[in-house]
Amino acid sequence: MKGKTAIVTGGSRGIGRAVCLEFARRGANLVINYAGNQAAAQETVAACQAFGVSVLALQGDVAEEADCARIATAACETFGSIDILVNNAGITRDNLLMRMSEDDFDAVIRTNLKGSFLMMKAVSRQMMKQRYGRIVNVSSVVGLSGNAGQVNYAASKAGVVGMTKSFAKEVASRGITVNAVAPGFIETDMTAKMTEAAVKAAAASIPAGRMGTPEDVAAAAAFLASQEAAYVTGQVLAVDGGMY
Ligand code: NAP
Repeated sequence: MKGKTAIVTGGSRGIGRAVCLEFARRGANLVINYAGNQAAAQETVAACQAFGVSVLALQGDVAEEADCARIATAACETFGSIDILVNNAGITRDNLLMRMSEDDFDAVIRTNLKGSFLMMKAVSRQMMKQRYGRIVNVSSVVGLSGNAGQVNYAASKAGVVGMTKSFAKEVASRGITVNAVAPGFIETDMTAKMTEAAVKAAAASIPAGRMGTPEDVAAAAAFLASQEAAYVTGQVLAVDGGMY
C-alpha cells in the first residue's frame, strides 16, 4: 500500500482504528473520518503517523452528502488520489421490533446503509478516472444470519451486502473492486454495551471460542484493499471465528 491513499470512515475507534493502523503499517497515507470524538481521532492520527505516513483527520457525518463530498475532495487535494475506501462508520440502536421506534430504525439505516452509498458515490468518479480502486464495506455476520433485537441493524448490514455485490458489477471493468467484510462479535465500544450474559451467550456460539479483535478484521480488510486482491470482487468475507 506504499504511497496509496485510503479513506477510512469511523476511523477514530474500534475496528476503523485498527484498519487505519494496519494500512499505515503497510505505508498508505490516510484520511481518517470520525463523527464527533475528536480526542479519539487525534490519538489514532498520532499512532498512524508513527509509521511515517501522512494523515488527515476529518470530522463528518457519512449520512450527509455534502460531508462525503468534502472528505473525497480533501483526499484528492491533499494526496492526489483515492485508492482505497473503507466504509466502516456504523451505529446500533437495538430493541425488539415491537418496541423499536421509527427514529431508531431510520437512524441505523441512515448511517450504516445510506452512509456507505454516499461515500461510494463520492469516490467513484476519481476511482473511475484512475482506473483503480479498492472499496471495502463493513457489513456484519448479523446481516447474513439475523439477530433478535437488531432488525434495523441486520437490515442495514444485509443492504450493504446487496449494495456491495451490485456496485462490484458496475465497476469491475474499471479496475475497481468492491467487497465486504462481515465481522462476528468483535471487542470494541459497540459490543462493550452488551450485558455480561449476552457476551457469554455470544462467545458460546463462536467455534473459535473467543470474541474477535479489531486487528482480526483489519487483516481481512487489508487483504481486500491490497493490489494483490485485484481479481476478487463482489465477495463477503466473514471474520467471525466460524460463527456463520
Ligand atoms: P465503534 O467502536 O462504536 O466505532 C464507531 C465508529 O464510527 C467511530 O469511529 C465513530 O466516530 C464512527 N461513526 C459513527 N457514526 C458516524 C457517522 N454518522 N459518520 C461518521 N462516523 C461515524 O464501532 P465498531 O465496533 O468499531 O464498529 C465498526 C464497524 O464494524 C461498524 O460498521 C459496525 O457495524 C461493524 N461491526 C462491528 C461488530 C462488532 O462486534 N464490534 C461486528 C460486526 C460489524 P466517533 O468516534 O467520532 O464517535
